[in-house]
Amino acid sequence: MHTERRQIEQSLRKRLENSHAAYRRVWEAGPSRGAVMCPQQQRLIDEVQRHLLRIAELSRATAEAVAHRNENLVRELDKQVELAMGEKERALGALRQHRDDHGC
Ligand SMILES: [Zn+2]
Repeated sequence: MHTERRQIEQSLRKRLENSHAAYRRVWEAGPSRGAVMCPQQQRLIDEVQRHLLRIAELSRATAEAVAHRNENLVRELDKQVELAMGEKERALGALRQHRDDHGC
């Protein structure tokens, strides 16, 4: 069970790294990158993206844990999804607030 859990955690970490790498490549190649966007807004968008990718990967890991009937891991991952959702909401709120305040 511990081996299985380690494998799920390793695969989760690997996929998170891949997602981030893929996102960076798209971002860096994007035509809208550069002076057009306010750097603070860019940072806040990056933050929201990071949380959303984490939620996606945590949700996938939770689905795997459900399939493996690993109740303890399901509970733990579910809690992490909840926390990540809260962080995403705050990040999205900060982004909207910045756009309103800054008019960017
Ligand atoms: Zn701005």
